[in-house]
Amino acid sequence: MSTFAFLNIAMHGRVNPTLPLVTELVRRGHSVTYHTSPAFAAAVAAAGATEFRYPGGDQPLPDPPTPATLLAGLTRTANAVLPSVLADLRGSRPDLIVHDAACLWGAVAARELDVPAASSFTTFAFNRQVPSPTRASRHLLTRAFLRERRELGRRYDTRGLPAFDLGNIRAPLNLVYTSRMFQPGVEELDASYRFVGPSIGARPVDGSFPFDRLRDPVLYASLGTVFNAEPRLLHAFVTALAPLGGTVVVATGRTDPAALGRLPANVIARHFVPQPDVLARAALFVTHGGMNSVNEALYAGVPMLVVPQGADQPLVASRVTTLGAGLTIRTPDVTDGLVRALAQRLLGESRFRGAACTLQEAQHEAGGFRRAADELEHYLERAGQARVEAGAGG
Ligand code: UDP
Repeated sequence: MSTFAFLNIAMHGRVNPTLPLVTELVRRGHSVTYHTSPAFAAAVAAAGATEFRYPGGDQPLPDPPTPATLLAGLTRTANAVLPSVLADLRGSRPDLIVHDAACLWGAVAARELDVPAASSFTTFAFNRQVPSPTRASRHLLTRAFLRERRELGRRYDTRGLPAFDLGNIRAPLNLVYTSRMFQPGVEELDASYRFVGPSIGARPVDGSFPFDRLRDPVLYASLGTVFNAEPRLLHAFVTALAPLGGTVVVATGRTDPAALGRLPANVIARHFVPQPDVLARAALFVTHGGMNSVNEALYAGVPMLVVPQGADQPLVASRVTTLGAGLTIRTPDVTDGLVRALAQRLLGESRFRGAACTLQEAQHEAGGFRRAADELEHYLERAGQARVEAGAGG
């Protein structure tokens, strides 16, 4: 049995798909360690990993999380956490490191410890059709970033790492948590990319969510966990959808549900909801187009109205509409009238549900966390054989 070390950045979207994979590896008898921050400690422990904490508590995300601020922030964090991360890993002696594609310190740790690495993409894999947000461009190269990047190279083995494109750190095995069908330009990507599909497993049960109040059709709206959800937008969704529901569920994220004022009786508004379970009941999802949210909706075969807030979300929105599984509108165009009209189309025209169901099949066939665990095990076997052969040759 082997020891896997997961290293990640503290974002729901980056962490969530890895947790069912951790549980599956532990179920197969492997040991798993997971470096995380206090906000995710309970979820990581519940998944079955031995938890390591980064020093310094929760690392605040740059606000707004633009590529330039992320690039500087990630490099600074790498320099700050690596001494403690390396000490932890020298103790636990992993056979394989699995790091997020933007988790620079995970990739550096693999080099320092001479351990094989796999990279975890919770976004699309990047190619010409989906350009990496951190690919070198002049405005990203702030002085703060360049100073931290130089420091990193001086202190650690960074051979083979991208100089600048640090949100796109590839390894000989790259796990991508979507299906080949949903990935734009999939034919451009080599065999190191394995499209394992959405990694959705049981999450800790949220006993406080009133599932018994759900009536069909369930209409669900969320703008994710990273971008602040403007009350104006959430309010427009509620007003637009309430007359069309059954039940309308709104996840308000960091916005206080009370900011929505008095709600119609069929609306449930909460900071955070058990999303995959709500999607399993939903007829429609109004979403910001976060990659995980969209993957989860397609896994459930739910058509979407995508209202991108930033980051890769416009690209995700355009992929959803190209494949016919939804519609999109820009944030400034959101009014309750327009959202209701589009929601009525999405509910009334069966082609949207049909396209979402075609993608649903592809998302399930990709294999999810079990396939991801197979890929990691095979990769480790191959890496082990290569080492034996190199030893025999030398
Ligand atoms: N999520 C959830 N409940 C909520 C809001 C979000 O469980 O009320 C989860 C969702 O299932 C997904 C992740 O948080 O796995 C959000 O990731 P995504 O990439 O969609 O968006 P981000 O929050 O990173 O913008």
